[in-house]
Amino acid sequence: MTEAGKRNFKKINHSKKPVGSKIQNDHKDSANGHSKKEMGREQTAKKTTCPVRKSGDDFKWQQKANAVVKPEGCDEAAGCPLTKKCGGCQFTKVPYTEQLKHKQMHMRKLLGRFGKVEPIIGMEQPLYYRHKVHAVLGRGRKGEIISGTYEARSHKIVPVEHCLIEDEKAQAVIATVRRLIKEFKLYIYDEDLGTGLMRHVLVRRGYATGEILVVLVTGTVVFPGKNNFVKALVKEHPEITTIVQNINDRRTSVVLGEREQVLYGPGFIRDELCGFTFRISASSFYQVNPAQTEKLYNTAIEMAGLTGKETVIDAYCGTGTIGIAASRKAGRVIGVEVNKAAVRDARLNLKDNAVKNMTVKQDDAGRFMLEMAARGEKADVVLMDPPRTGSDKNFLSAVTKMGPDRIVYISCGPDTLARDLGILTKSGYRVMRMQPVDLFPQTEHIENVVLLSNKKSHR
Ligand code: SAH
Repeated sequence: MTEAGKRNFKKINHSKKPVGSKIQNDHKDSANGHSKKEMGREQTAKKTTCPVRKSGDDFKWQQKANAVVKPEGCDEAAGCPLTKKCGGCQFTKVPYTEQLKHKQMHMRKLLGRFGKVEPIIGMEQPLYYRHKVHAVLGRGRKGEIISGTYEARSHKIVPVEHCLIEDEKAQAVIATVRRLIKEFKLYIYDEDLGTGLMRHVLVRRGYATGEILVVLVTGTVVFPGKNNFVKALVKEHPEITTIVQNINDRRTSVVLGEREQVLYGPGFIRDELCGFTFRISASSFYQVNPAQTEKLYNTAIEMAGLTGKETVIDAYCGTGTIGIAASRKAGRVIGVEVNKAAVRDARLNLKDNAVKNMTVKQDDAGRFMLEMAARGEKADVVLMDPPRTGSDKNFLSAVTKMGPDRIVYISCGPDTLARDLGILTKSGYRVMRMQPVDLFPQTEHIENVVLLSNKKSHR
């Protein structure tokens, strides 16, 4: 690591701001939402120390990292002036190759006791990768309309006009929304008084399709001039294929309310991953970095070693993306997911893709597995992708009782992954492969996919 890199890592404060706002279904750790998996703005408080590379360390991965990382992209990341106030990214002052080194070392330290950690899969262009962008609306000191994120531990808005990790088209749409609010003389919602109209804007852009979904979160149902507002927005950004008004009249930090009305288009966009199409609506969960997600899913499916005959469980399946991607190589797939809306989306995704060999159950994954194990039912492969809090005792004990040949564990929480691997390796499983994937460049977050094999299957 370069001296500059070391200095920057030492300066990084890993403590996180408390959540100023939460996007519903942005992977909340709760039964009615999702886990904090999408990262970026929703983050937990955790302090970690950054290891500094010892000289002479043999990092084979560096070759790979250097091969995929384009230095041009890193120049722009020479630092974000908002880092301190926004708190979403920790590493914008650190060149991308150094970020990857840091993540690799961190994973080696944390997971090395289970075996070899493979070279982290980095991103070719580690900027502007978030295809889901949220902005809270407010007024600046001079009364001007601002949009951005909440400052650490407060409800003060940090105006964000240019973010290094958010999709640039989505940022342009948000800038237009700001301008149109002024032109249409719309009121901004006042959090203290609980009055006013415009609260948040949420933009999602399909990675493969380019389709854009705009969600305008309002404090009231009444939206004066909404038809003309919609017309003007679509005229400026013809890629917008749908606009939804979400009504949130509660004094809450959760972004989305429960009611919504479609103002334009079908109310959802589509995207493609691993050759399948997925619908994304205002509240559905979809990984924020689709380019890397495809690499993650392909790695997980490759690890599953499917031959077309296996019974596969896709646990914590969300909208069914991994299971659907695995379905063409499996005998049958059973998805299990606790969130009702995600299950509904998963079933629609099955239909849209004409997937006939997968079903999705709405249940707690642990309970579902315990019942399946109690009935003596078997699975050959368990794919599991729990929220950042990791899995639970019920699930892990049911899995080991069921004894699938292989478990593929996808994780966005390295600490809980290490904890759960500890349990699984004491219960008859051996770690065969560990692959970190950089889903969240410029931030400290790390995704991993791990293959475990049943020791009995090797006898
Ligand atoms: N595999 C999906 C979603 C992973 S996110 C994808 O890649 O898109 C984790 C999912 O676990 C969320 O959808 C969340 O709602 C679900 N979840 C959280 N706790 C759960 C539980 N106890 N049982 C089943 N699903 C749960």
